[in-house]
Amino acid sequence: MSYDTNNIFARILRGEIPCRKAYEDDHVLAFHDIHPQAPTHILVIPKGSYVSAADFGAKASDAEIAAFTRAVSRIAAEAGVEGSGYRLISNHGADSHQEVPHYHVHILGGRPLGRLVTPL
Ligand code: 5GP
Repeated sequence: MSYDTNNIFARILRGEIPCRKAYEDDHVLAFHDIHPQAPTHILVIPKGSYVSAADFGAKASDAEIAAFTRAVSRIAAEAGVEGSGYRLISNHGADSHQEVPHYHVHILGGRPLGRLVTPL
């Protein structure tokens, strides 16, 4: 799947659409989800153009991957959910219901989140 430069997160990165920023460094931007599913719901995205976790894992540099991984745990800690617990979700492709084709990790916390997925 090729990268769509007009996806909504690419537009947020270019400053064309506003976001409520939670964190930024050279490689990473994080902002609050527009439709939060928990008291803490932050989206962490790389600044590079990667469609999903698969694309990021295959093509991102070691520096980008290290920065992203460190940022996720730092953002969760700064959001105050490290002690109570949080869930990381990254959707890839159709079965996961990925809506935005720019790699992102959801940080969800601030309430008991229940089971990982709805049982069949
Ligand atoms: P996905 O299903 O792709 O893993 O999740 C995409 C997420 O992006 C959804 O939780 C959705 O609410 C969020 N989202 C979609 N458009 C916007 C937007 O314009 N701003 C923000 N902050 N979040 C968005």
